[in-house]
Amino acid sequence: MTNRTIIQYFEWYVSGNHVLWNKCIAQAPRLKEFGITDVWLPPAYKSGFSEDNVGYAVYDMYDLGEFDQKGTVKTKYGSREEYQQAIKAFHDNDIKVLADIVLNHRMGADEFEDVKAVNVEPWNRNQQCSEEKTISAATVFNFPGRNGKYSDFKWSAKHFTGVDWDNYSKSHGSIYRFCGKQWAQDVDHEMGNFDFLMGADVDVNNPDVYAELINWGKWYIDFTDIDGYRMDAVKHLSSEFTRKWIEEMRKYKKPDALAIGEYWSGNLQDLLNYLNAVGHSMSLFDVPLHFRIRDMSYADGNYDMSKLLDDTLLSSCPDNAITFVDNHDSQPGQSLESFVNVWMKQVAYALILLHENGIPCIFYGDLYGIPYTRNIPIPRLRTLVRVRHDYAYGKQNNYIDDYNVIGWTREGDEEHPNSGIAVLLSDKHDGRKRMYVGKQFAGKCFRDCMRKIREDVIIDNEGFGEFTVQGFSSAVWVTEEAYENLIINED
Ligand code: CA
Repeated sequence: MTNRTIIQYFEWYVSGNHVLWNKCIAQAPRLKEFGITDVWLPPAYKSGFSEDNVGYAVYDMYDLGEFDQKGTVKTKYGSREEYQQAIKAFHDNDIKVLADIVLNHRMGADEFEDVKAVNVEPWNRNQQCSEEKTISAATVFNFPGRNGKYSDFKWSAKHFTGVDWDNYSKSHGSIYRFCGKQWAQDVDHEMGNFDFLMGADVDVNNPDVYAELINWGKWYIDFTDIDGYRMDAVKHLSSEFTRKWIEEMRKYKKPDALAIGEYWSGNLQDLLNYLNAVGHSMSLFDVPLHFRIRDMSYADGNYDMSKLLDDTLLSSCPDNAITFVDNHDSQPGQSLESFVNVWMKQVAYALILLHENGIPCIFYGDLYGIPYTRNIPIPRLRTLVRVRHDYAYGKQNNYIDDYNVIGWTREGDEEHPNSGIAVLLSDKHDGRKRMYVGKQFAGKCFRDCMRKIREDVIIDNEGFGEFTVQGFSSAVWVTEEAYENLIINED
């Protein structure tokens, strides 16, 4: 068995000249080389707005950069052919592709239509706050540029639950629920009921909509050969619907497909409740861990590292935990901005990549940097992924027991030559720990592949080593033989 590592292969401001799919094709061999096993690609469908839209403003899910719609044939990332070639390039390099699946809403309708609706209180969407009235809603999607190719399904008001725009009154900040419709109940309870997120909210409980979204999913798998699903905005979708959709896709093809939900909440209990609701059929991003890392990174050493993993998915539900440091929503300039302080990024990546629990997801913006906001690439990130891929195996011994310095070891296993590691992380001062790596290493030399500590550590006859770390940094110790194999071009 090989450790999996996902890369989120985009950031919010990634170049919008239709070049990302071609970059995927060019970079796939490099990603494989340093140990990436899965890639999460951004939403590939035509957006309702400009051709530079990141892709979450979904207009037509059958238009992957193929039809002249919304003023462009290509999407922000390229053409339909380039997308398919990118997926093939990943497959040629044994990398699985996770597609970004956005089922909650549609935007950029072709026409307005008259719909009877009521206003609901924006802070409590269960509370009706107007009489019934006729609004002009952006709910007519005919896709004239596609002209019925792949699907003749056309959307109108009966397929949606509500909108946030009335083209008659043109008042901002309102939310309208269509008469005869109810919000789904099995959604997040923030704002009273968080079914509505934005645009035209898809009514997944409508049988025609349900059938269409299943049909679309099967078409998408056949057309692109994707291997798994990153489910967008699941806190705004009926959990029963999401569970069934994933079940139908796995029944159709690729029964082992990885499905990851984006449930943006720092509250562990919210995530555990959701996992129960979907029968643990999917994994979730470990948002509580992200917030703990973020808080620690700004605490100037006044953070109890021994509690860093408390109340996280990684600790409480490791089989369903997708760990990450940052993403396109937490990066600078975004609505959910909570970017981890730069000094701590490498420490955080050592944590999620070398711990035995969770599947880690590294961020494009941390691998390549983010020119738009002048964020630098994280040093030795490729090395950390390679250490995970090649050497982070065997029994884990935890030393997560100190206010400022925590660590653990992996004893290695037979299957992976030269495996076995020791990790030390500090959020304040220099530190040292005597840690057990295994008697099989007695007399062996371990070396820090983060290249901050110059002296090697010799393992004693009892299988212990006296490992050290500099303040505000990480030290990752591997055997001398492993170290020799780890020479990586970090560019
Ligand atoms: Ca919804």
